[in-house]
Amino acid sequence: MPADKPHEACGVFAVCAPGQDVARLSYYGLYALQHRGQESAGIAVSDGREIMLHKGMGLVAEVFSGERLAALKGHLAIGHVRYSTTGASHPVNAQPLVFYCGRGMLGLAHNGNLSNGFTLRRELLEAGAVLQTTTDSEVLINLIARLNGDHNLPAAIRQCMARVEGAYSLVLLTEDRIYVVRDPYGFRPLCIGELHGGWVVASESCALDGVGARFVRDVSPGEILEISPDGPRTCAVEAAPRQAHCIFEYIYFARPDSTIDGFNVGRVRREMGRQLAREFCPPADIVVPVPDSGIAAARGYAEESGLRFEEGLMKNRYVGRTFIQPVQEMRDMGVRIKLNPVREAVAGKRVILVDDSLVRGTTSGKIVRMLREAGVAKVYYCLSSPPIIRSCYYGIDTSNEAELIAARKTVSEIREHIGADGLHYLSLEGLLRVFGEKARDLCGACFTGEYPVKIRDWAVGKFGFCACVAGVNR
Ligand code: SF4
Repeated sequence: MPADKPHEACGVFAVCAPGQDVARLSYYGLYALQHRGQESAGIAVSDGREIMLHKGMGLVAEVFSGERLAALKGHLAIGHVRYSTTGASHPVNAQPLVFYCGRGMLGLAHNGNLSNGFTLRRELLEAGAVLQTTTDSEVLINLIARLNGDHNLPAAIRQCMARVEGAYSLVLLTEDRIYVVRDPYGFRPLCIGELHGGWVVASESCALDGVGARFVRDVSPGEILEISPDGPRTCAVEAAPRQAHCIFEYIYFARPDSTIDGFNVGRVRREMGRQLAREFCPPADIVVPVPDSGIAAARGYAEESGLRFEEGLMKNRYVGRTFIQPVQEMRDMGVRIKLNPVREAVAGKRVILVDDSLVRGTTSGKIVRMLREAGVAKVYYCLSSPPIIRSCYYGIDTSNEAELIAARKTVSEIREHIGADGLHYLSLEGLLRVFGEKARDLCGACFTGEYPVKIRDWAVGKFGFCACVAGVNR
């Protein structure tokens, strides 16, 4: 995961498929969602009588062996990959969470962040609840379990939805069925597919493709879906007055082969690149992407500008989560191991360098320096998103505001800071134009500060991101 990028905050997967190996299907589904979280992975399976769980720290392939998967027998499963935004990176916070409650066993996997999670957590603790994790996902499962006194889980979920605020795409597992919930604004993606008579739910459609399922539809904002061996059934739709799908899923997080809420991510990125070329096209020779997330936008830029697309930076695909960061005097080496310029392709050229976003501006300066050392004549840094000026409170780690370079510096100061000959951010209008009239259904609060759901639990500005959650973690 690049150090200077926003970090995704989890992926969820669920499958109901009698007669099929649901643990193995979940394993492959989570593999396809690995880009959404690399800290921990887990799968919970039910055979109709009890829920079995295995989870641990690390990548999907590190957490599960063939033996582990074979032990998880049943026809219902939920799975999770995690990157922590609330709650520390610790085994106890790995998901799915599985608990015994009044009606039996209940499992939950969550993608998103509650914007009133801290308040609800405090209320639960004051009411005598015993919590074992520092995640807001545990707040959700506690509320649902407590509200499920009359053993009507869809009603309990509805009541829970009336109390929680923020972003949540959930999959819940009982002994005999799965519940799927997307928050009323639809912040984080969630879709459902069909697989040989069974049903699969995933954060992104690439995971449906990965297990051979046929995409059926996106789960609607506010929808509570019940899935049993009889098939899926919508129990309720508690939609908000507007939708607020995270625009950053399209810019950076989601895989380009995923289609989210009607838009293919790769096509959207290409169109962002075209738009970028319409806005800023200085005299240049080649278009070079910062791999991998800048590739689609760079192709779009090249198509629109007529300039040649060139793979001028090579990415080392084997630098992963366990990469030991270099000591201070070797600090440039970290970037060089991850990215290296192709000298023969870029020397003497005026380069349009296309990247998706700039968070702290630490890596971009090093990339510009590397390109200059490789003999580049000019570097124009082009970003396929507007300046990030505010933190995200809906499940994405965009760093705290004090660390966001665009919150502190003007565009010309940033250009100077990274040492580029030119710097252009895609305008907000240009970005929204890509989505046509559907742009009104998007959240772009990290660019505008206009948060669709009120932020109750964070001290915005002075204390920056997660001031209260940091308190929870202690
Ligand atoms: Fe996505 Fe930004 Fe909105 Fe967070 S604030 S949900 S990152 S668009």
